[in-house]
Amino acid sequence: MLEAMRRVPREAFVPAAARRHAYADAALALSHGQTISQPYVVALICQALELQGGERVLDVGTGSGYQAAVLVELGSDVVSVERIPELAEEARRNLAAAGYDVEVRVGDGALGVPERAPFEAIAVAASAANLPAPLYDQLAENGRLVLPIDESLVAVTRTASGPRTRFLSPVRFVPLVHGLPDRGLPDHGLPD
Ligand code: SAH
Repeated sequence: MLEAMRRVPREAFVPAAARRHAYADAALALSHGQTISQPYVVALICQALELQGGERVLDVGTGSGYQAAVLVELGSDVVSVERIPELAEEARRNLAAAGYDVEVRVGDGALGVPERAPFEAIAVAASAANLPAPLYDQLAENGRLVLPIDESLVAVTRTASGPRTRFLSPVRFVPLVHGLPDRGLPDHGLPD
């Protein structure tokens, strides 16, 4: 995990104004009021995804592309979705310049990418009030999904008997802006 993160040049994903802070363990400002996640939180997410290499992974909230680059370093085949077209374009440029092959799509990531499902792992970088049902539905059996629910980072595993959830850490993320009804899985079992 640390090896993978060492290989990603974080400065390639940080706007010029913040570049001198690129190796601080902190979230940094992107344009459009968004942020590039704190490296520690990226590590926490990737670890909870339990990637062995070769998995198909959905990254929701591309932002700078940094999280997507770390996922590629872990051997994943990554498709990433960003709501803001300008950020998606910037992330495409960042990823290509650093040599990462990631498909970046513009759209509502809460809807997932049905035509590429199922995913062995899904990473969500923006906070929702609940688990968007389409994301859970696009998980492979035994697939892992990590997302912030309000201010809790939560790992969800899809099992034959339904979702199994685990609290990881308190976190702060920008909001997931989506058009779904504010309703999670009926029996998601998440802590209140
Ligand atoms: N993973 C990013 C973190 C970016 S912050 C990185 O490593 O830099 C979260 C991103 O989620 C923002 O860019 C925001 O625009 C995006 N976002 C918010 N709601 C979204 C949605 N419904 N679908 C896709 N992207 C969304």
